[in-house]
Amino acid sequence: VLDAIVARRIRLVGLDVDGVLTDGGLYLGQAGGQRVELKRFHSHDGMAVWLLREAGLGVAIVSGRASDATTVRARELGIEDVIQDDTGAGRKLEPFERLLAKRGLELEECAFMGDDLADLPLLSRVGLPVAVANAVPDVKSAAAMVTRAAGGHGAVREFTESLLKARGVWERVMERYLKERGDVPAERTGSR
Ligand SMILES: [Mg+2]
Repeated sequence: VLDAIVARRIRLVGLDVDGVLTDGGLYLGQAGGQRVELKRFHSHDGMAVWLLREAGLGVAIVSGRASDATTVRARELGIEDVIQDDTGAGRKLEPFERLLAKRGLELEECAFMGDDLADLPLLSRVGLPVAVANAVPDVKSAAAMVTRAAGGHGAVREFTESLLKARGVWERVMERYLKERGDVPAERTGSR
């Protein structure tokens, strides 16, 4: 269970891609003479991004690997803040700090989800460091929460539910989602 005071302080959630939004697998090949890289994302995590935004939180992607698959997924989810280090160095802290400066946010107001060593500089600085079940031991040690779900299997969704519950807004945000879709379950409206 997340600490309510820490949870309420969070204004932005940063997400690593490989191993967090995906299971870390990379599908590499060629098609029509072009290099192709595909990743497998989880629909539950897409929903999590919607829920976080509905709760008034920002969402940013911070990947150490530049990939068209990441760009496509970010666009689909309406995530504007997408950091992809294409220098091969896989740096995350520096570009993330630049993003926070732009948004007028502090590291303590951020949660970050990671799985590997490249995430450690960020995880050791943010207010709420989160590791996925498949994270390496050092990343788990640095985290305030380790999800039961592995990356690419709804880990972002699991953290999102914990965060919104700790903030006391889970019910409201879920109701809003159902209402927007126009199909509120009968037991929620009190009618049959
Ligand atoms: Mg990773």
